[in-house]
Amino acid sequence: MVKKRNLSEIKKKIQDGTAIVITVQELIDQISEGEKVQFEDVDVITTATKGLMSGIMGVFSFRLSPPKTLRKFTEVSINGILAYPGPCPNEYLGIVDLIVYGTAQSKTQENYCGGSLFRELVEGKKIEIVARSSEGEEIKKEMTLEDMQFAKLMGTRQAIKNYNAMINCETYKVDTIFSCQPFEPDKTQITFSGCGALNPFQNDPNFESFGVGSPILVNGSIGYLMGPGTRNYLEKPNMMTLAPMLGMRPEYMGAFKTSYGLEPICSIAAPIPILNEQIFNSVVKSDKDVQLTILSLVGREKVGEITYGDVWDNNFLMKFNSNACKKCDKCKILDICPTNAFIIENGIISAIDRTRCFNCGTCVQLCPDAFKLDLKTIEFERKEIPIVLRQSDRHGAIKLAEQLKAMILKGNFPLKNPTGELDFAESVK
Ligand code: SF4
Repeated sequence: MVKKRNLSEIKKKIQDGTAIVITVQELIDQISEGEKVQFEDVDVITTATKGLMSGIMGVFSFRLSPPKTLRKFTEVSINGILAYPGPCPNEYLGIVDLIVYGTAQSKTQENYCGGSLFRELVEGKKIEIVARSSEGEEIKKEMTLEDMQFAKLMGTRQAIKNYNAMINCETYKVDTIFSCQPFEPDKTQITFSGCGALNPFQNDPNFESFGVGSPILVNGSIGYLMGPGTRNYLEKPNMMTLAPMLGMRPEYMGAFKTSYGLEPICSIAAPIPILNEQIFNSVVKSDKDVQLTILSLVGREKVGEITYGDVWDNNFLMKFNSNACKKCDKCKILDICPTNAFIIENGIISAIDRTRCFNCGTCVQLCPDAFKLDLKTIEFERKEIPIVLRQSDRHGAIKLAEQLKAMILKGNFPLKNPTGELDFAESVK
């Protein structure tokens, strides 16, 4: 007989302080230490992913002028980033509704995109809005997140059921969003994305525990899953999400500089209530069980298959040793960090801003004395090819899964049944 429990029983145990909530990482660690974990041993598993998520946008509404003073706003930029006013005209209200894309680049600030803006808002920084009305009047205003009537982050394509590794099979270097430096030719480097075993969809492949309306964490703030995202299909699902920016945490967000421009960073965590044995059996017990496809960078043909166990193996955190810094006359790596995590004093890197570090490995490649991280190599066509970049931050994802666990145990996260099933019928590859 299939073992079962319902959500009310889990909630009662949370209230009583007897519920067992663990992250997928904790489950993996317990199993690898020889523990036998069964359905009875766990009530909720928390999953998460942190990575580059191009399809995010900020949806805002705020007042820029008193009512009746002008008809509507037609052009708006925030910190030099083009925003899209509307669709509501808000005629004669002095209020503007607008959308800012996470990938949009600022015209006034170098290396600054929508992802940078969203992080600064969450950090409580003032932003500058420049708006033009239909009458041609220009209005400038400074504002913080708290001043806004509405500020939410929407994601059109998030937490994809893991991603791919990339290799450049061409004979020339390629600038690409899949590499921080120009991608070296002739199959000499590999980069990859995906948090592997920790990914939400990877742990509930039949969408039994979450669906439309399920509460999730977006960058640490409670939001919800709206439904399947764009370019979804059953084998590679992703989610559309919405969450208030107020309550988000900056360490889960920001911008990542690739050799082909900036990409926004976003983090999602989802609980998986273990409602039956089948759900428990689907939870990933090892990264070796999660496939990672190697694609040719130009053309995206499949050229190989490995597993996330080949790339993730308790090698999550980059370690910096300032004493090992050789204090070179001209440090070559001062500006190479894709997230601006270096703290620079007197022309040398003195420390790492851990709220920005993505544990990507770029610094490790270029200065292996001071920066340490086991990036691994992959056997490909009988050669050992080094991994040079990780575009997902498993360490950050584990932190978010731990935050979700703590919130559930304290009763600060609403565990709810979904209002509808995830439907992929009309999804397109
Ligand atoms: S691992 Fe190095 S290069 Fe990558 S984000 Fe951290 S400090 Fe920057």
